[in-house]
Amino acid sequence: MPKTATLPCRGWVHRYPDRVLMLVTTQCASYCRYCTRSRIVGDPGQTFKREEFEMQIEYLKRTPQVRDVLLSGGDPLVLAPKILEELLSRLREIPHIEIIRIGSRVPVFMPMRVTQELVDMLAKYHPLWMNIHVNHSNEITKELAEACDRLTRAGIPLGNQSVLLAGVNDNVHIQRQLVQDLVRIRVRPYYLYQCDLVEGAGHFRTPVAKGIEIMEGLRGHTSGYAVPQFIVDAPGGGGKIPLMPNYLLSMSDHKVILRNYEGYITTYEEPTDYIPSDAAKFKGLKRPEPGQTGLTGLLDGDQMFIKPEGFDELHNRGGIQHRLKDENKWKPLGIGSGESSD
Ligand code: SF4
Repeated sequence: MPKTATLPCRGWVHRYPDRVLMLVTTQCASYCRYCTRSRIVGDPGQTFKREEFEMQIEYLKRTPQVRDVLLSGGDPLVLAPKILEELLSRLREIPHIEIIRIGSRVPVFMPMRVTQELVDMLAKYHPLWMNIHVNHSNEITKELAEACDRLTRAGIPLGNQSVLLAGVNDNVHIQRQLVQDLVRIRVRPYYLYQCDLVEGAGHFRTPVAKGIEIMEGLRGHTSGYAVPQFIVDAPGGGGKIPLMPNYLLSMSDHKVILRNYEGYITTYEEPTDYIPSDAAKFKGLKRPEPGQTGLTGLLDGDQMFIKPEGFDELHNRGGIQHRLKDENKWKPLGIGSGESSD
C-alpha cells in the first residue's frame, strides 16, 4: 500500500492507512471563504463523474486495510437522497468497511433538508457517524437543534469541527460558549482547526498560540466532553497534528511532575514493579502499516531511528558507509543477536 496521499482517481485522499476520504460532490449548501477545498468547491466544471465513483469503489474492494470511509466534498447531504443512498449501500456491500462517516454543514446552512425521511434512510447504513461544522453559537438555531435531534435519535453520533477564525471566534469565552451550546444539543466538539493557508482568506488566520490559549481556557474549565482537540493540518500533506498546552512539567525515572488547569503543581509516583503485557499475546492485533509506523514503530521496537529524506545521500562519504546506515533494527544492548521485538 502506498505511504502517503494516494489519488487512484480524482476525489480521493488515502492519507492514513486504514481510512479514506471520498469527495463525492463539489457542491455545498453555502460556501465558506476559508474552506480548505475552496479550489474545487462550487465549481460545476469539477463535478465528480460516475466512472470516478466506480473506480473508488473498486479501489476500496481491493484494499482490505481500509475500515473507515469519510464522505465529504463539498457536502454529501446536498446530493439527491437516491444518489446518496446508492453510495451508502455500495459501501455497505464491502465487508471490511466497518464505519462510514459523513462531514456536512447542511444541518447548519439548510437544516430543513435533514428530514425524518432522510434520517431514516441514513439509519439503514449504520454504523454511521457525522461531523457537522459550527463556528459560533450564533449558528446554533432552533432549526439546527431540531435537525441534530432527528439525527441523534436515529443513532447517528454527532461531532463538530470548527475553524478558528480571526474576528469571529478567536476568543476563549466565545469558544467556551460554543462548545457548551454544542453539547447541550448532543453534539460533541471534535476538532478546532487552525485556519489553513487558503488564498484570499489570510485575514481569518490567527497565530497558533491563540489556539493554545483557547485550549488552556477550555480544558478543566468546562466538561471534558465539551473540549475539542486543537488541530493544525500540516501543510505539505503532513496530516492533522494535535496541539495542547503542556501539563507535563518534568519527570525522573520514578516521578512525574504535572500541573493542572489551575496551575496546581503535583507529583505522580511511578510504579516500581510495572511489568508490561507480553507483546506476543497481541501479535494478531498488530496491523501492517509499511513505512507508516513512525514514532509508534520506535516505541514498539520495529525501528531504532527515523531518517529525514536525503539522509543517506548526505552521509555518503565517498562510498564509506555512515555508521548508522542499514542499522535500523533494534539491537538490545549487550546482546549481539539483533533480534527484533516482534
Ligand atoms: S461547507 Fe465545508 S466544504 Fe463547503 S465550503 Fe464550507 S467548509 Fe468548504
